[in-house]
Amino acid sequence: MAYKAWFECFNNACRKRYELSEVIYNCEDCGSLLQVVHDYEEILKTSAAQWMRKFDERSHRKMWPYGSGVWRFKEWVLPGVEDKNVVSMYEGETNLFWAERLGSEIGLPNLWIKLCGNSHTGSFKDLGMTVLVSMVKQIVANGREIRAVACASTGDTSASLASYCAAAGMKSIVFLPKGKVSNEQLIQPIANGALVISLDTDFDGCMKLVQEISKDKSIYLANSKNSLRIEGQKTVSIEMAQQFDWEVPDVVVIPGGNLGNVSALGKGFKLMEQCGIISKRPRIVCAQAEKANPLYRYYKSGYKNFEPLQAEKTYASAIQIGDPVSIHKAVAILKEFDGIVEQASEEELADACARADRTGAYTCPHTGVALAALFKLRKRGDINQDDKVVVISTAHGLKFSQFKLDYHESNLPDIKSRHANLPLEAPANLDAVLKILDKRL
Ligand SMILES: *Cc1c(COP(=O)(O)O)cnc(C)c1O
Ligand SMILES: [Zn+2]
Repeated sequence: MAYKAWFECFNNACRKRYELSEVIYNCEDCGSLLQVVHDYEEILKTSAAQWMRKFDERSHRKMWPYGSGVWRFKEWVLPGVEDKNVVSMYEGETNLFWAERLGSEIGLPNLWIKLCGNSHTGSFKDLGMTVLVSMVKQIVANGREIRAVACASTGDTSASLASYCAAAGMKSIVFLPKGKVSNEQLIQPIANGALVISLDTDFDGCMKLVQEISKDKSIYLANSKNSLRIEGQKTVSIEMAQQFDWEVPDVVVIPGGNLGNVSALGKGFKLMEQCGIISKRPRIVCAQAEKANPLYRYYKSGYKNFEPLQAEKTYASAIQIGDPVSIHKAVAILKEFDGIVEQASEEELADACARADRTGAYTCPHTGVALAALFKLRKRGDINQDDKVVVISTAHGLKFSQFKLDYHESNLPDIKSRHANLPLEAPANLDAVLKILDKRL
């Protein structure tokens, strides 16, 4: 096969290249992050119409590995991996649904939610992890020794890594900040047989340690500074366009923590543009929790100087990150996509979740951050009534039961729980039940 991809230094002045089968995360010469670059000349030998037809033919079918919403785009993602080394659980193919009622409540009739959390381990992290773990399997098949794959995590990366490694028969190591991930997220890597190390620190602290241990090249690093994950995650924009019959929306709202996903979103749109599949770019809105908002502050300063900060505790625990590794990639994308950065307070994100749930969704706190940002932008007129808007929902609400229960029981400190809906207790007799119905219907 002629399609080729390689790592290339993200620093424009350097651009040093490395093989994808090398165990490397930063440029050896200048220290910058790497990105995966494809042989676009080869890709452009196929016309836009032919690519669209090929991808449409592969969708909703089970031909290995193209039935996956990531590997359907294999030539654009990781062409060098042999099909037998692909580790896939048919990730992607997630619902993109019209949030009609929620949209009409905020004067946005064309509001859509892309449910990336309806995935194998319940978050969008599967999109990138299938690519990374497949590459590791290929590297091992090539004869290199990899003893384990390791990550620091705010909960979802570790769940995804543990599952894909277990499926591939490889060992995984996950570093979690103690007491800062939900029970559902903690039990996932435990169940999948990962070596789970719970540290008395936050995500940024876990990240420092995992970088240290992965200096040993037989321990492969799975965090999103490893740009293989971005290649899988970028399929979210390609799949979204495909679901709209190869049209793009006007605005996409996405929550951001380490900022790999917002970079990936833009990368997918740029590739489609380069191939002639789309001719306009959507505006990208990145939403942060007020308690962990280094990008928001940087944006507000006109991108003058970036300052990492100590993230404070937020219910949006997966984005409780003060020193995002993909900051420069994300800012480059935001500048190219007329980007906006907005933030949400704890009360705003909790209310946004509850409000969306009342219209039939079942949202995680990070999706709440994105929705709260959307509500503000709509109110302010930065998003117009006739805009077609997609909110990226990053995880499944079922991973955050305690947060949702606490909200409805009004147990979240400093939060009014405006949309709480408590079960009513009654003796088991018809009279008592009828009385409740009389009162409530
Ligand atoms: C990882 C994650 C994010 C943040 O993605 P980044 O690439 O770190 O910005 C948002 N929401 C959920 C549920 C996540 O797991
Ligand atoms: Zn370099």
